Amino acid sequence: GGSSSASSVKQVKLERESELRIEVGNETPLKLRLLNGSAEIFGSELAPETWLTFPPRVKFAVFTWYGATIEMDGATETDYTADETPMISYVNVNAVLDARRKRAKASSPNDSEASKGPRVIVVGPTDSGKSTLSRMLLSWAAKQGWKPTFVDLDIGQGSITVPGSIAATPIELPIDPVEGIPLEMPLVYFYGHTTPSNNVDLYKTIVNELAQMLETQFSRNAESRAAGMVINSMGWIEGTGYELLLHAIDTFKASVILVLGQEKLFSMLKAVAKNKPNVDVVKLQKSGGVVSRNAKFRQKARGYRIREYFYGLTNDLSPHSNIANFSDLLVYRIGGGPQAPRSALPIGADPVASPLRVTPVNIDRDLLHMVLAVSYAKEPDQILSSNVAGFIYITDIDIQRKKITYLAPSAGELPSKYLIVGTLTWLET
Ligand code: ATP
Repeated sequence: GGSSSASSVKQVKLERESELRIEVGNETPLKLRLLNGSAEIFGSELAPETWLTFPPRVKFAVFTWYGATIEMDGATETDYTADETPMISYVNVNAVLDARRKRAKASSPNDSEASKGPRVIVVGPTDSGKSTLSRMLLSWAAKQGWKPTFVDLDIGQGSITVPGSIAATPIELPIDPVEGIPLEMPLVYFYGHTTPSNNVDLYKTIVNELAQMLETQFSRNAESRAAGMVINSMGWIEGTGYELLLHAIDTFKASVILVLGQEKLFSMLKAVAKNKPNVDVVKLQKSGGVVSRNAKFRQKARGYRIREYFYGLTNDLSPHSNIANFSDLLVYRIGGGPQAPRSALPIGADPVASPLRVTPVNIDRDLLHMVLAVSYAKEPDQILSSNVAGFIYITDIDIQRKKITYLAPSAGELPSKYLIVGTLTWLET
């Protein structure tokens, strides 16, 4: 498929079980509405005759089970219709999950195993459609009245909060086709880097912390326990990436592993699951609509994501610029490189810093343009195990006056003075 850029109003008639795949142009938004029939965007149904406005660069599909007419207004990079999709197999997975949720709900809440709903982890290489499948499963479940928990372990292209983080949030309504995952009160842990190889021990530690926290919440909430989780994983599936995948599967006690578009990964996980009677490994076809994104695009997408955190998707949020004294803020780093060059150490000393050591950081110009997390820790030794309240962005460091200027989502004092810095930077554009 693929057509050249076209502006103006256009109607598209979709046959049953087909989809309209769209890449919005780079400069201008695209308006779209359902004229008749029924259709959904990644599992979320379109309201009839209601215009939706998609920001530039967004890639999505409008799928119909029974046929629909769609109207578009604006320029697209590409738009084409496809009648071969894996949607039937995806919705069949949802039906199985729904049955398991019902079974969990019907069993005694005192039976901690039987009352536990499905814990689904979606795995596969980059650009296999993991985030999209997660989103469909969540929206379909929400439409059926469940409140599943979405867990996003992807620190590179996550969809809950800023990059460099892992997070979880309950999904109570089908996910908005434009706005995406609702941002109210997610449970967020900060890793601080956009590649897991930077500090594998730290990545595992925050995965453990997040899983433990969810376990505690589930033990108090039968409804969310029965609805279970949908976990989106990282596209890094070789070597250490594979090890981290197994770690996530074990840590969250995944009961269903959905493998997208990779035979080898499927057979490896199938072999691992042989010893685990309660784990199903299911192979699913990758959708032909999934758009590949190169390293440069991903880097850019991370920047947009950070911008969205502070300014909103359509500049609808107004972040506040605040000024603090150096002494008001306590910045910490977790792990990182050696504290001293080998030449400065006594002979035989190990220059490798402990990856989980939490060390105070001097405030200087190095912090300029860094994105820092605001920890909920009350003491430095709680930083490693605490989730974070949100993020700030350092816009100026005045060494002479010892003042730090930063952007925060809202005005007022930060919820805590403990800040975590990693390697996450952003150049505001
Ligand atoms: P990553 O490994 O980076 O997390 P992923 O495997 O999660 O990638 P997605 O984010 O789900 O992949 O999909 C990649 C892109 O393709 C997204 O922009 C998504 O909106 C788009 N996409 C997915 N499915 C379709 C489709 N059927 N039609 C059009 N676009 C699609």
